[in-house]
Amino acid sequence: MSPASERLLGLTEDELLGFDLMEHVHPDDAERIVNEISSHVITHGAVGPLEFRVRHRDSSWRYLEAIGLNLLDDPAVGGIIFNCRDITERKAFEHDLAFQATHDSLTGLPNRALLLDRLGQAIARSTRGDGRPLVLFIDLDRFKFVNDSLGHGAGDRLLSKVADRIRGAVRPGDTVARFGGDEFVVLAEGIEEVAECDAIADRLSDSLATPFILSGQEVFVSASIGMRLARSDHENPETLLRDADSAMYRAKERGRSRTEWFDEQTHWRTVDRLATENALHRALDRDELRLHYQPQHDLVTGRMVGVEGLLRWSHPERGLVGPADFIELAEETGLIVPIGEWVLHEACRQGRRWQRQSPSEEPFVVSVNLSAHQIARPDLTDVVARALDATGFPAESLCLEITEGALMQDVATTVQALRSLKALGVRLSIDDFGTGHASLGHLKQFPVDSLKIDRTFVDGLGVVADDQVIVAAVIGLAHALGITAIAEGVETPAQLAELRALRCDAAQGYLFSRPVEAAELGDIHAVSIGRADGRAGNRRLL
Ligand code: C2E
Ligand code: MG
Ligand code: MG
Repeated sequence: MSPASERLLGLTEDELLGFDLMEHVHPDDAERIVNEISSHVITHGAVGPLEFRVRHRDSSWRYLEAIGLNLLDDPAVGGIIFNCRDITERKAFEHDLAFQATHDSLTGLPNRALLLDRLGQAIARSTRGDGRPLVLFIDLDRFKFVNDSLGHGAGDRLLSKVADRIRGAVRPGDTVARFGGDEFVVLAEGIEEVAECDAIADRLSDSLATPFILSGQEVFVSASIGMRLARSDHENPETLLRDADSAMYRAKERGRSRTEWFDEQTHWRTVDRLATENALHRALDRDELRLHYQPQHDLVTGRMVGVEGLLRWSHPERGLVGPADFIELAEETGLIVPIGEWVLHEACRQGRRWQRQSPSEEPFVVSVNLSAHQIARPDLTDVVARALDATGFPAESLCLEITEGALMQDVATTVQALRSLKALGVRLSIDDFGTGHASLGHLKQFPVDSLKIDRTFVDGLGVVADDQVIVAAVIGLAHALGITAIAEGVETPAQLAELRALRCDAAQGYLFSRPVEAAELGDIHAVSIGRADGRAGNRRLL
């Protein structure tokens, strides 16, 4: 042994003489070392680098890295030489790195990656039949409030304290992980009965019940918890977590500070959505979409001056399905783009057919609804132009309705889209006006031809005084801007009388007609609701 060994092991030269290294090697490493030395040094003449722990004189364990060289045949040496160096610091650093990669730095709890790993192992272990793994997804209620009002430092301290309480509320073998933000996950294994799950959730909630002291203030915290028990050994860790997460959301929805089980029902609704999505994909190919038309009347002359095309889905099993049941899904999946294109073509084709069947000098406008998704597409103007070209329907007879909410999603894009549509010569209308947040400034920028007063305000006409004021204001606003006002959802003669008194230009609603198939409208120029001044129109409905 060289003098450097003294430093390595803290032993003096005397103590080192006759020293048996193997007696001081960590018991977990000893067998491996002996095997490697005996097999390699003897057969290959060398071994290493070997890593093992040795007891230092100060009784700490030191990591050594050793390379052994067989010089038994060298007459000058006649032994096996080991070259060792202390790698304790490097080992500690590696250990820190591994820890950081698998743990959350704020709370020291396992992170998502480690949790998924443990969850996978827990599922595999559960096949041996001693209970099942339970996942509890915990989200603090009102954490954002603490963070915003007391500052991020206090928020961090609260999270550490919460982590401690959660750790204290579970059994030693359970895993508590931090998922990021104010989300924690507990993995409990060996669950035999549902009652155990409730008990664990109760213990968790109780552990948070006593207030926390932060910056000298008492802070009350509660949690929304979602639970999901693994059903079989086929479970996927990601799915288990996702389900527990969705259960947690239900707990939030139902008023927070409570625990909810993952609900199969919710699960099946998601699956059902998938089926609907697939069916909607095929609806276009299978020609299952229909466009119904609702008449719009001029309130002075009573004449039918146009129709609004409203989409229907003739579902093979569910019958005629309204847009409320599938437009949102179509928007989310992007299917609204091909569907919207179909609607445009169909409306223009039907519009052109009416023009041929009942030629007239009087204008007749076909309106089509556009979704926010369509407005955001740079090719919208091309799509509209193609529909007009393909069908020969004149641009000025087509009106595009865009809801106020959709217009306001991205005002700059909207203004551009509207201008380029306007350049085609089509009419534009703001649908459901009064429900969004368009300001007068925006209205001036949007090159629109009419405002459609939302049905909810028309509903309240003659009943809710405020609605009367709002409808009057919208009509006044439209006229001030030099455009027309049209009311939708007119159901009673009283509402109609009111709208006429307020000088609303046009209206549609069940009072005149529900949306119907094109054929049911017959000769469009023969339909009238009668003149405002009481003189007979060509065919009086009222
Ligand atoms: P919207 O454009 O505001 O259409 C008016 C809705 O009010 C229609 O519902 C219509 O049937 C209904 N309605 C008409 N008169 C009355 C009435 O007197 N009383 C009551 N209670 N309701 C009346 P529908 O057909 O269910 O359409 C709902 C929404 O779906 C439409 O609202 C529109 O935003 C959207 N939509 C319809 N067709 C299309 C389409 O082709 N493309 C897009 N993107 N959206 C569409
Ligand atoms: Mg509309
Ligand atoms: Mg509307």
